[in-house]
Amino acid sequence: MSQYIDGKRREALGTARDLVRDPSNGEVVAEISLAGAEDVDAAVAAARAAFPAWSGATPGERSAVLQRLAGLLEAEAEDLAQTESRQAGKPIRLAREFDVPGTVDNAAFFAGAARTLEGQATAEYSPDHTSSIRREAVGVVGSIAPWNYPLQMAGWKVLPAVAAGNTIVLKPSELTPLTTLRLAELATQAGMPDGVLNVVTGTGADCGAPLLRHPQVDMVSFTGSTKVGRTVLEAAATSAKRVHLELGGKAPFVVFDDADLDAAVQGAVAASLINTGQDCTAATRAIVHRSLHDAFVAGVADLFAAVRLGPTADPATDLGPVISTAHRDRIAAVVERSRAYAKVVVGGTVPGGELARGSYYAPTLVTGADPQSEVVRDEIFGPVLVVLPFDTDDEAITLANDTPYGLAASAWTRDLYRGLRATREIRAGCVWVNDHIPIISEMPHGGMKESGFGKDMSTYSFEDYTVVKHVMFDLTGVAAKPWHRTVFTPPE
Ligand code: NAD
Repeated sequence: MSQYIDGKRREALGTARDLVRDPSNGEVVAEISLAGAEDVDAAVAAARAAFPAWSGATPGERSAVLQRLAGLLEAEAEDLAQTESRQAGKPIRLAREFDVPGTVDNAAFFAGAARTLEGQATAEYSPDHTSSIRREAVGVVGSIAPWNYPLQMAGWKVLPAVAAGNTIVLKPSELTPLTTLRLAELATQAGMPDGVLNVVTGTGADCGAPLLRHPQVDMVSFTGSTKVGRTVLEAAATSAKRVHLELGGKAPFVVFDDADLDAAVQGAVAASLINTGQDCTAATRAIVHRSLHDAFVAGVADLFAAVRLGPTADPATDLGPVISTAHRDRIAAVVERSRAYAKVVVGGTVPGGELARGSYYAPTLVTGADPQSEVVRDEIFGPVLVVLPFDTDDEAITLANDTPYGLAASAWTRDLYRGLRATREIRAGCVWVNDHIPIISEMPHGGMKESGFGKDMSTYSFEDYTVVKHVMFDLTGVAAKPWHRTVFTPPE
């Protein structure tokens, strides 16, 4: 049963169905019903009905539910990791060590953070007044999530929203709905009242679009591509909904000439191949000082060639498939076109044998591309790293910023000044120095430029999921206030 509405699993009202397939071998993992506008109506109605009581609960009560949820997620960690691995084609090691623990920690973090919501008192208008700030939940949040980290993205959307007292209707990607549905069940088991968290599983057009436009949805929170993000903004404009957008990226990885080359090489391999490159913050453009360029390329090429592609259930597997053969074919097409203007140093191939049953693609390293070319500019969202040389620090920063995206970046240097300069001048929501990828619940994640706006994780996410209400009391109780004279002459 692939919908979760008002605290219960049920099927969609229509007849449309789809298969969730394991990208590593094409096997069917589950058959799901696909939600349409009527299911979205039911889910939004449930969220609306649940809102007064949930937003009126004390932070302590909401916190207790999230604490129990963290415990239930932890208790079921192995099952969740197995499901995540199968539906998204993740190596089981990644699902066990990254996806599931990240969500457990997120639930525990927001259980605590729920109790930190506070407003600053404003200045007093006069000695006869007092003024305060309330942070209130926005209302019903309509959320849409991608397939790359299904459970983590569901957590990033749901946990801050409900911690702050909102209710939510979440649409996971139709390719990977299974762990999100389980998250909703566990939330109910943890004591979350019916209707606070609803999950509608369906396509973008038939389920996502009606959710975005729903008149009873107060806020839209979207993680996905910049292309779809634009349509989210347009849809939200029709009823002036609050919008939170986490979009695409094309992260620069800048290696200055004083960098620890070995650290930069290993860092680039891990940061470009994590989740088979299907990570919005993945390193995709290595911008390397000309003096280190060839050694860097040789080092990365060696490690790329040694990466173990294999069955996702095998703990020894490093790299799994990408999400689908259609996505693999898109990646391969960009790399094939790049052969006309650049050099594919390693990879650029579709593995055969047993792996041919899945949507695998070899780790691919491209050099010699023009900074304006497709392989450098477009988000590929696969295991493809492009290396660009530079000569001066100014040029490195310019190349790093030469992208419509601004989600994440890193600078590799042993020079404090260079590192600090990079953190200031690279326009991205996160800049690491001598590392690339790590993030935990306390740390805000979100972009600049066409990577969107708003923050996931951390207490900064409450800026998006709450409204600030100013409350003022007159303490005199008199009818004639001094300021009335500005408007009219009060009776004597
Ligand atoms: P996508 O934009 O194709 O789809 C994302 C979600 O939007 C899916 O649930 C999809 O069904 C839905 N959708 C598609 N068309 C829609 C429409 N017209 N109306 C409403 N909903 C619609 O993205 P994807 O392929 O699932 O994920 C990959 C993208 O997500 C990449 O661009 C990646 O960078 C981005 N991403 C960003 C972050 C971040 O935090 N910034 C995190 C993960 C992924």
